[in-house]
Amino acid sequence: MAASKPSTSTDPNTNIPDYEYTDVNSNIFHIGSFREEWLNRLKPSNYSYEQEHEDTFDANFAQEMGIGADTMADLKSVCSLDSLRCHPVDQPPDTDFVPPDPTLRTLIQRKKKQDHRASLKICKNRHDLYADELERLTVGRKPEEEADMVPEGEVVLTINVYYPATFEKFTYVRPHVTLLMTGSHSLAELRDAICCVSDLQVCGEFSNTPDMAPDFISKDHYKSAFFYFEGVFYNDMRYPECQDISITTIEWAKTRNFPAYSQAKMEDTRFVDLKLKVGFPYLYCHQGDCEHLVIITDIRLTHENDCLDKKLYPLLTHKHRVTTQKCAVCHVYIGRWFTTDDQFAPSDPCLFCDKCFRMLHYDAEGNKLGEFLAYPYVDRGAFN
Ligand SMILES: [Zn+2]
Ligand SMILES: [Zn+2]
Repeated sequence: MAASKPSTSTDPNTNIPDYEYTDVNSNIFHIGSFREEWLNRLKPSNYSYEQEHEDTFDANFAQEMGIGADTMADLKSVCSLDSLRCHPVDQPPDTDFVPPDPTLRTLIQRKKKQDHRASLKICKNRHDLYADELERLTVGRKPEEEADMVPEGEVVLTINVYYPATFEKFTYVRPHVTLLMTGSHSLAELRDAICCVSDLQVCGEFSNTPDMAPDFISKDHYKSAFFYFEGVFYNDMRYPECQDISITTIEWAKTRNFPAYSQAKMEDTRFVDLKLKVGFPYLYCHQGDCEHLVIITDIRLTHENDCLDKKLYPLLTHKHRVTTQKCAVCHVYIGRWFTTDDQFAPSDPCLFCDKCFRMLHYDAEGNKLGEFLAYPYVDRGAFN
């Protein structure tokens, strides 16, 4: 690989990512400068959301391809969508229908997939339907108010946030969410977009006062968190209760001759201010020890087909699915409580939905029956 490495690797301009190695991270670069470099090199029409007039487009295309107007007209009619029609002209197309004997390679592949899926007898579940719907609603979406338009020449980052591998079954498959954010978003906005069950975990035993439980949510109690990018800890300091929880690591590193780390505030740091490597694993830490890998997989300029409504960002484009743990009694609803030392339960500990939990453990007046300890439970699949 090293032999084929072109001379660009010695290019002193570190503001352009180096994609030489596939599957490995880029060199470190400054996102704001990267954007500037692009904008200096491109013509405004290259990143404009305005659709080029058809005739202008055709003329430019013909010129770039070195073909005459006649050839261009021929190409246009041959490659026209109308020539791909496989349904009667007077009927609206059914896009899910593939003709029985397709000759087009894409249709052959699609037919194969369709037949395979039909043989599995699995229909689209609600998650797939939701994902389809989300995509349909956001692709090329324009805002209602002009002020909410993502400006032309803005950068978009693709951010993968991974979930801690606390279960053995996640050792090989790392569940993650993928978010799109713009260069002007702050790290605090990224933090707020990350849904993790440990933020919702409720600590304590509530068998005597089950109605009190929802008032204690970890996120309200322990607000400190940080991101770590390239030697800098970006702490969340938005609230008076926030503490600099990176200081322990910084002090520890000092006594062991590690390179010096520094601190900054995540609410004051926008993505365009950051220097980082694309494809490199960084860290998000909250609730003391809930650690998530964060990988920026792409940084590019916006395009007219992007979602252009600022209000829909951070935009969720992928979400992992987790099987939910059901109530041990009804096997229908997601578990909300787990009990221990419970004389009514078939197992110890035992998981109950709210309804079954209350029906089994309290009388009509809400008085506790028998002996047990009850802890609120937040399912990993609560955000599905
Ligand atoms: Zn977490
Ligand atoms: Zn139940």
